[in-house]
Amino acid sequence: MNTLSLNIVTPNGSVNNREDVNLAVFQTTAGEIGVMYGHIPTVAALEIGYVKINFDNGSEYIAVSEGFVEVRQDKLSVIVQTAEPANEIDVARAELAKSRAESHINNEEDNSDVNRAKRALERANNRIRVANLQ
Ligand code: ATP
Repeated sequence: MNTLSLNIVTPNGSVNNREDVNLAVFQTTAGEIGVMYGHIPTVAALEIGYVKINFDNGSEYIAVSEGFVEVRQDKLSVIVQTAEPANEIDVARAELAKSRAESHINNEEDNSDVNRAKRALERANNRIRVANLQ
């Protein structure tokens, strides 16, 4: 069976490089897509969520924040702001980020940017969720 290569790039560098992907699932703004070797070339915008990859010896979840995936016949390029494999997520850090974001959102005296806090909350909830999927 032909496999796909996967390269996930963030502003901090390359996170996950592998050549043995049988199936990758992406959460795009238009819904979930599953991609196997030979998929029609496409580009899709990714939501805060996860990338799931299946390979011969198992599968892996990677938490991602907003970005794009470019699908080519034999190659997946993911460009996202952040990406953390589920087993590298610091859950305590995400819980702290979650309570910080919640207190910004709930504190009416606070002039902080509520939309920014809502996105931070979404990232934190996503990391907590993905850490539990591994
Ligand atoms: P925090 O307030 O904890 O920094 P954040 O959502 O503001 O959370 P980001 O700006 O999304 O953080 O990410 C900054 C960097 O820290 C990225 O490299 C990201 O991969 C990493 N990161 C953020 N939260 C976690 C976490 N809980 N576990 C592992 N890495 C994390």
